[in-house]
Amino acid sequence: MERYDLIIVGTGPAGISAAITAKIRKKSFLLIGSARLSEKVQKAHTVSNYPGLGPVGGEQMQKAFLDHLAQMEIEITEDKITLIYPMGEYFSLQGMNGMYESRSIILAAGMAPSRMLPGEEPMVGRGVSYCATCDAPLYKGKTAAVVAYSAEDEHEADFMAEYASKVFYFPQYKEEVHVKDGIEVIREAPKEIKGGFKADTLVTSGSEYKVDGIFILRESVMPSQLVPGLEMEEGHVAVKRDMSTNIPGFFACGDITGKPYQYIKAAGEGNVAALSAVGYLDKLGKA
Ligand SMILES: Cc1cc2nc3c(=O)[nH]c(=O)nc-3n(C[C@H](O)[C@H](O)[C@H](O)COP(=O)(O)OP(=O)(O)OC[C@H]3O[C@@H](n4cnc5c(N)ncnc54)[C@H](O)[C@@H]3O)c2cc1C
Repeated sequence: MERYDLIIVGTGPAGISAAITAKIRKKSFLLIGSARLSEKVQKAHTVSNYPGLGPVGGEQMQKAFLDHLAQMEIEITEDKITLIYPMGEYFSLQGMNGMYESRSIILAAGMAPSRMLPGEEPMVGRGVSYCATCDAPLYKGKTAAVVAYSAEDEHEADFMAEYASKVFYFPQYKEEVHVKDGIEVIREAPKEIKGGFKADTLVTSGSEYKVDGIFILRESVMPSQLVPGLEMEEGHVAVKRDMSTNIPGFFACGDITGKPYQYIKAAGEGNVAALSAVGYLDKLGKA
């Protein structure tokens, strides 16, 4: 497996800016996220406070970012990272589409749109999962609930149905749902997860569902779930001014590090994080 100098997780302004600087500094890197970049860019009505762009709509801003990436020959690796393991001198990343390795990391994954459900945290790995692709085979012949916050995750429910005997699908978005026949689509909001040693019940706004596994597919995975041992501060990743975290070689930038939630702050931090990662890699090379 190729081991990159740097992997940037997230394709909002923070991750894009970090990638541009990594490219200028000639590092081998991957930019992992979505080809549509970030919903928070795409959906903005009018952006008036980003220097050089004038008042623009979100879609125009998205196009400007995509054009810039194309001009610099930076490709996006489309994947969602579900776990990052610090391994000492490198990091191992588990994505929905594969595994990756890198000497340093920049986490630019934005802020999770929703808080954890009551009962969710203690059940992670015990009936609660964030990746159907990774864990679906464990639910062969069983009942699973899939809570999805984006239509992009419908294929995860379809994949789940190849193993589970019964799949309840709880879309938390407005668009029409297109999942395989046999999957029961329920328009209710998740409220709580219950169970003993293992999660066994999803409580919703309308009812309670007895299940063997609950898959929660948010656009952003909580940083503390994504990276074991990552220090947090009031719900954000704790960083120093150089965007370093408590884990050597691991940097964070953008909304995930705290307020104000602004494009230019995210892009600025992305630049700082990339320069700090370059400094870290240079030291690693000399060690
Ligand atoms: C409707 C709206 C309007 C706004 N208007 C303005 C404005 O006018 N001016 C302003 O300055 N700010 C505005 N903001 C705030 C701005 O959108 C955010 O501050 C900015 O997008 C943060 O950038 P980011 O790169 O940190 O994160 P995001 O833009 O949230 O990008 C994070 C990216 O990471 C990806 N990602 C998350 N988890 C993973 C994972 N596990 N694996 C791979 N990829 C992952 C996401 O899919 C996303 O692409 C607005 C926000 C909204 C919602």
